[in-house]
Amino acid sequence: MSTNGSTLVTHIVVVGGGAMGSAAAWALSRRGIRVTLLEQFGPGHVRGASHGSSRIFRQAYSEDGYVALAARSFELWKELESASGQTLLTLTSALDHGDPEIVNARVKPLQDAGIPYELLTPAEAGARWPGLRFDTVVLTHPGAGRVHADDSLTALQSETVRLGGEVRHHVAVLDIVNTSEGVVVRTSDGDIHADHVVVAPGAWATDLLGEHIDLPVLRTTQEQPAFFTPLKQDAGIWPSFVHHPGAELSTEGIYGLGSVEGIKIGEHATGPEVHPDSRDFIPLPAGERRLIEYAREWLPGVDADSATSITCLYTVTPDHNFIVDRRGNITFAAGFSGHGFKFTPVIGELLADLALENIPAPDFLRLDREGLRVH
Ligand SMILES: Cc1cc2nc3c(=O)[nH]c(=O)nc-3n(C[C@H](O)[C@H](O)[C@H](O)COP(=O)(O)OP(=O)(O)OC[C@H]3O[C@@H](n4cnc5c(N)ncnc54)[C@H](O)[C@@H]3O)c2cc1C
Repeated sequence: MSTNGSTLVTHIVVVGGGAMGSAAAWALSRRGIRVTLLEQFGPGHVRGASHGSSRIFRQAYSEDGYVALAARSFELWKELESASGQTLLTLTSALDHGDPEIVNARVKPLQDAGIPYELLTPAEAGARWPGLRFDTVVLTHPGAGRVHADDSLTALQSETVRLGGEVRHHVAVLDIVNTSEGVVVRTSDGDIHADHVVVAPGAWATDLLGEHIDLPVLRTTQEQPAFFTPLKQDAGIWPSFVHHPGAELSTEGIYGLGSVEGIKIGEHATGPEVHPDSRDFIPLPAGERRLIEYAREWLPGVDADSATSITCLYTVTPDHNFIVDRRGNITFAAGFSGHGFKFTPVIGELLADLALENIPAPDFLRLDREGLRVH
């Protein structure tokens, strides 16, 4: 039990069983709160943003705030691994290459945070990672790699249940009503009365929260990464990488990582705008062609003719920073802009801090920050 202002908090409903809602449920359960997690679809569904085997975990950001969040997230991933007995992080290192100005902007924040890194020439990097081709300075940090996404959701939800929480799939939240005692969560399975609600609805944020919270315009896009078969090296040992546009790369930037399905690569936020309930799940041929061309030119270690594309949703804020905040009895998280997964457990922790103690999230994640509404 914990205090929330003057009210004794005993029961919190969490809406959304993707990465962020599941992490909030785990964080709250760890603090002894009675939690009910509600998810409109079934376990492992592919209609949101958190499905699939892997996501990049990296600390190299140009903003100190994200570097600090990544460092705390790393500790929490380790705690979740030890609580669940599952391996959730595989450290294969991460690389940034491409436009030297963008790459070099990531050095000082790593240095200031005491995170080990190296700067390599293209020849040095090519010798170490022969599956990739490099044209400029390469920044690498070893405490990075990938997070096992599907397994992480399973671990977060199982741990929530083990700690006494309830996880209910196939329950859609229709509305949230603030009352003097707390909230009434109206669902497809009846009303639930609770002291507080934490809402992490991914691409459904505007539909569910738009009437209650003054959200900025959130763009939902259908993205389409593709998997390629590695020629020699096992995909499991590939580093994660971000190839920033500029220098020799004249097209969009590309991210990539190893996974059980092969080497996954994708563009960042270039897909068509969609509504999450009416999208077609069909990758665009032009997008797949661009990834094949990239693989042919920059990834000598993969079979460029082996592309298998999938789709997934981005929910993008105007400044590409996340939104984590609270209004009254509603704490919410939205707009993870295609780079949220690595931070999953620390976002859960921030949501729990907001819901229980009203400790605000960092300024760059607040709803009233400058820059969120100007674009
Ligand atoms: C192709 C792709 C690649 C990515 N790569 C990376 C990467 O390498 N590294 C990284 O850090 N991040 C990456 N990301 C981003 C990361 O995956 C997302 O930021 C993260 O998964 C967002 O999680 P979420 O919980 O906000 O959203 P979601 O996973 O979409 O979860 C929201 C959940 O809420 C449920 N919901 C919504 N409304 C209701 C309702 N009314 N009632 C009940 N349930 C509801 C939905 O069904 C959904 O399950 C990538 C994303 C994509 C799409």
